[in-house]
Amino acid sequence: MARYTGSSCKLCRREGTKLYLKGARCNSDKCSFERRAYIPGEHGSARGFRKRMSDYGIHLREKQKVRRIYGILEKQFRKYFKMAASRSGVTGDNLLQLLETRLDNVVYRMGFAPSRKAARQLVRHGHILVNGRKVNIPSFNVSAEDEIVIKEKSRQLNLVQEAIEATTELESFEWFEVNKDNFTGKVLSLPTRDQIPLDVDERLIVEYYSK
Ligand code: SF4
Repeated sequence: MARYTGSSCKLCRREGTKLYLKGARCNSDKCSFERRAYIPGEHGSARGFRKRMSDYGIHLREKQKVRRIYGILEKQFRKYFKMAASRSGVTGDNLLQLLETRLDNVVYRMGFAPSRKAARQLVRHGHILVNGRKVNIPSFNVSAEDEIVIKEKSRQLNLVQEAIEATTELESFEWFEVNKDNFTGKVLSLPTRDQIPLDVDERLIVEYYSK
C-alpha cells in the first residue's frame, strides 16, 4: 500500500497549523512548527501563512488537513468520502466517523501508540488483536463492542511502553474505555461528531468533493 514517506513536520507547516503527527515531540520545544511557522520551500518564509486564499484553496486546505491528520492518500480519502455520502445521515459526520474508527486511529486514541503513524506500524506488524483475532489492516473499521488488545508478547515494546507512560492523563473519550493495566480497550459505541476532537470544518470537505 502506497504511503507518504516525506517529513511529517513539513505537512504541518504546509497546512499552517499543528497536526500533531509525531507524538510527544509535538508538545515539546522541538516542534518545527513552533520554530519555523511558515510554508516550507524556498520562498516560504516570505509568504508566511498570510497569503489570501481563494474559495477553492480554503476548501482544498481543509480536505488536505484532515487527510494528513489521519495519514491517508488521496485515492483512499476519496473512497471514504463516497462511502460517507452513500450512508444515511450527515455526510461530513459519516466521513469523520469512518476515519475515527480506523483501527490505527483507535489504537492511537486509546494511548497504545504515540502517534497514528506509530499505531499503523503496530497494526501492520501484527501486534493488535480485535476480538481475539490478529488484525493487521490499519484501515479496518472497528464496531461497537469490539475489544482491542495488544498481544501479550508485544506489550514490552518500547513504543507501547513509552506511549502508555506518556498518557498517564489519558484524554477521556465517551465512545471507548481503556484498561491500560491489561493493555485492552473496548469500543462502547461509534463516535458522534461531538465526540471527535478535531478542529476542522468537515462541511468544507463535503463541498470540495461536491463541486
Ligand atoms: Fe507538526 Fe508535530 Fe512536527 Fe510539530 S513536531 S511540526 S506538531 S508533526
